[in-house]
Amino acid sequence: MSCVHTQPHPRPFIFHVTVYAPAGTDYEDDFAFAIKTFAEHGVEVRVDATHEIDAIVLDHAMQKKLHKPSYSTPVYYVETVVLREDGEDKEFNGLQWKRMGQSFIAVSTNARTSTLSHEIGHALGLGHFDAKTNIMCAKRGDKPGFTPWQGKLMRRGNLLSPR
Ligand SMILES: [Zn+2]
Repeated sequence: MSCVHTQPHPRPFIFHVTVYAPAGTDYEDDFAFAIKTFAEHGVEVRVDATHEIDAIVLDHAMQKKLHKPSYSTPVYYVETVVLREDGEDKEFNGLQWKRMGQSFIAVSTNARTSTLSHEIGHALGLGHFDAKTNIMCAKRGDKPGFTPWQGKLMRRGNLLSPR
């Protein structure tokens, strides 16, 4: 059998996630939006498994307890994300952090649809981008997207990552 390469065959890039959420959490829209938006840039967001957890508030202490090393990035749906910044507690809608090479994502159950995608963007190496039409903008509007350049960075990040 012959294979004629008329087009480049990009290695499919799969970003694996495992969801931890309290019963009844409505995260379907977040994932539908993420799967569609990342697919437009050659990144497949694949949910490996979902697990039910008790409702939690993510703070610094909880952040340290959530160490479950895996090739599949854990996404925790939490009531609120509370972190100490500049000496005071601040609430966040989402958070992405790394611990011992492992990415973690937390999303508030009250966060809007694009927050999950914003945090996955961070996990894939993107910083903030100051345009309201962009997912990586903190003050983004409805239905934001990525630029082709951000897509390229995310796919390149995969090639550099150890897994
Ligand atoms: Zn951010």
